[in-house]
Amino acid sequence: MQPQPLPFQRMSLVKRIEWARRVKEEAVEELSSTVGGEGVERARRDHHSRRKPRPCGLTIHTGYGCSYGCIYCYIYDMGFPASPEPYPLTVEEQALAIALNPYVVPGHTFAAYGSVTEPFLHEVLDRSVRLISTVYRYLRLPSQVSTKSLLIGAVVEGLMRGDPNLSVLVSVSAVGREARILEPRAPPAEDRILYAGWAARRGLRVALFMRPIIPGVTDRQASTILRMAWEAGVREVVLGSLRVTTRILMVLEHAGFPVPAQLIPRVPRSRREQVTLRASTLKEAIAAEARRMGFKVYPTACAANTVSHSLPCNMCRYGPCYTQPPTPSPEEVEEALEILGLKRYKLVRVTGYEILLKGPRPTKRVEPSLYWLRDTSRLRVRIAGKMTI
Ligand code: SF4
Repeated sequence: MQPQPLPFQRMSLVKRIEWARRVKEEAVEELSSTVGGEGVERARRDHHSRRKPRPCGLTIHTGYGCSYGCIYCYIYDMGFPASPEPYPLTVEEQALAIALNPYVVPGHTFAAYGSVTEPFLHEVLDRSVRLISTVYRYLRLPSQVSTKSLLIGAVVEGLMRGDPNLSVLVSVSAVGREARILEPRAPPAEDRILYAGWAARRGLRVALFMRPIIPGVTDRQASTILRMAWEAGVREVVLGSLRVTTRILMVLEHAGFPVPAQLIPRVPRSRREQVTLRASTLKEAIAAEARRMGFKVYPTACAANTVSHSLPCNMCRYGPCYTQPPTPSPEEVEEALEILGLKRYKLVRVTGYEILLKGPRPTKRVEPSLYWLRDTSRLRVRIAGKMTI
């Protein structure tokens, strides 16, 4: 099976829902027959089959753990190991788990690879490339991968074959001596930038991922990092804040990079709790510098993803990204509510940025259908007085 890319602009809301349903059914059927009965059971038990997507999309684990040992990294606080392990399911079983997830809408739900491992470490590289390719082949999810590895030729070719519009984020928080202290076993940041530029010139959609912004380091080195990326051929940048635990705060202080107290919104309440630093001022200064140099600056990772896949989006306050999605007519929304089994919800109004509904607080059973409405319309879905999806 090879579903064609979603011709979004030419399809009505209802047609997009029907298309996504058909693709999902075919994917489940084909992958189930590939993996057999036991594989289906493993896929059903796997957390990819039920996790709700985060704002950046469904985080897909290609493996567990990472050996780069970046001193600001929170995965070690989450209990992930310092030596990477491939994900325990086969690629097809994992793709089936994702296809079974009721929140996942083929062609629409963002997929984000690389959150709890480095996907291109040699222990998991081959599996990661095959997984990205298999998930895209069956479900056409607009996909994004973040990495600190060098984008060597074999990886670039594999990724471009897998999802030609894949959004690739190459992380750089520092260069030089500071990078070697912060990221002791990762490939040199300068090399990452050179390889990223080379991959971008080969046609891969690569953005510089200045995340996490380490206060006092990334902001101070921003001009240098941006200039190196520009000279290498990278033209897009995504900025992101640092998430800290109490351990990370201590380690950074020890290494000579103390986090100013005014950037910490509150002390983490437990050993594992992560707190995102207040970095909007630092971000704005770096973004302004990047724009001056000619970069396209994205406010979020998914904004880069949506542009890479030519998918309009206005699902959050940062939108519209890529372009404004077409506003469906009230009749279309009412039909969509009907076919999604959302009969208890009444349409109040539909605008260019939201579908406002009246109805009960969603139960676990109806929540996935509201995600379908949001992801296929590309607009926020708000239930008056209750919640926004
Ligand atoms: S509007 Fe932009 S930032 Fe918001 S969810 Fe869509 S792509 Fe992401």
